[in-house]
Amino acid sequence: MESLKNTKIKIDPTGKFPYVDVSGGELWINILRESLKYGLAPKSWTDYLHLTVGGTLSNAGISGQAFRHGPQISNVHQLEVITGKGELVKCSPDQNEDLFYSVLGGLGQFGIITQARISLEPAPAMVKWIRVLYSDFKTFTRDQEYLISSEKTFDYVEGFVIINRTDLMNHWRSSFSPRDPVQASHFTSSGKTLFCLEVAKYYDHGKTDEVAKEVEMLLSQLSYISSTLFFSEVPYIEFLDRVHVSEIKLRSKGLWEVPHPWLNLLIPRSKITEFAEGVFSMILTDSSKGPILIYPVNKSKWDNRTSVVIPEEDVFYLVAVLSSAVPSSTGNDDLDHMLKKNKRILDFCKAANLGVKQYLAHYSRQEEWKVHFGPRWEVFVQRKSAYDPLAMLAPGQRIFQKGLLLS
Ligand SMILES: Cc1cc2nc3c(=O)[nH]c(=O)nc-3n(C[C@H](O)[C@H](O)[C@H](O)COP(=O)(O)OP(=O)(O)OC[C@H]3O[C@@H](n4cnc5c(N)ncnc54)[C@H](O)[C@@H]3O)c2cc1C
Repeated sequence: MESLKNTKIKIDPTGKFPYVDVSGGELWINILRESLKYGLAPKSWTDYLHLTVGGTLSNAGISGQAFRHGPQISNVHQLEVITGKGELVKCSPDQNEDLFYSVLGGLGQFGIITQARISLEPAPAMVKWIRVLYSDFKTFTRDQEYLISSEKTFDYVEGFVIINRTDLMNHWRSSFSPRDPVQASHFTSSGKTLFCLEVAKYYDHGKTDEVAKEVEMLLSQLSYISSTLFFSEVPYIEFLDRVHVSEIKLRSKGLWEVPHPWLNLLIPRSKITEFAEGVFSMILTDSSKGPILIYPVNKSKWDNRTSVVIPEEDVFYLVAVLSSAVPSSTGNDDLDHMLKKNKRILDFCKAANLGVKQYLAHYSRQEEWKVHFGPRWEVFVQRKSAYDPLAMLAPGQRIFQKGLLLS
């Protein structure tokens, strides 16, 4: 929907709550570049910024800042929407509020977002970007949960799983340096499953010593494997736009435009260990097909009036299995194989009754969507009949059949 760019990015830096007005088709990277000119930036991100505002607001928009600021849909002041009835409507928490919350996380079902007003905050200049490893899953998640519940904490908390990879040292981005190169060089994974905590602390020029102390203090409270502390320092924009670096590399090798059978799951905190025991190693036997992200967020930062469906616990995890189906001769990497693994994961979650919800869900039948929405299905249907009664919008989600009146 990138072609939906009807106005320029307009920033109001003056008030107590600065914001930016953008078109629905605007890319987040452009919003970042423009707002940085005023020393400002949006608060909540996705890991990749070359996505449209309308696209991510139709889902949620989750990254390592979500534990503190909520997803992107929690950081919107106002929308302008063309509903399925062809009406151009402004909506916000104070005006046409039902449409506002319907559209946020609404999978494009209720209207086309033509404009959005997004909350901004002062942008830091630099980022201390840190990775540490754990071999014990419970220790890893305990530390992640500690970090997202603390007042004084990092500005970004994510993590990923490393399964059956012995080339660990080559696996780190070249920009990361070990704190203790000698110790780090002695560390071997022996192929066992490891969990990498990835955190970042933002700071401004001139605050280097202060932030270093703060980071030391935060790290001293964690129980990672001490030889595996890796640091990097990068400008804020470089940190936020980090996936683009990989995109350029992959594009140059013809490996970007390949099928991505991604599976994104939201998992209640109380079930994350059971999930890990069942899925990491039993089903996912290596992580060479793409990153497997895992990090917790606080439900209190999500607004239950939006259309997005999340688990019913105060803390839940995003687990993103981001596979790339790169053509190869072994046959094991093919798309079909990955889709079967995804199905096995979903079947496991269902059989174990983990209360998992899919994020960026793919379903082909309305019955499956009904299960996805659960008790919220009726409200979703009511909203559809109010704003798009002929089911003209986003039929590709296969929630409603185009042109059929709702029963
Ligand atoms: C490389 C990559 C990395 C990603 N990383 C993350 C991540 O870290 N966190 C995260 O939360 N998500 C992530 N995503 C998923 C992303 O949020 C969704 O794919 C989102 O839909 C992408 O927006 P788009 O601009 O590509 O939308 P499109 O593919 O154009 O649209 C997707 C859906 O959104 C609806 N839509 C699009 N624009 C509008 C509009 N203006 N008004 C109403 N509905 C609209 C469409 O109807 C459609 O249903 C990632 C995606 C990619 C490709």
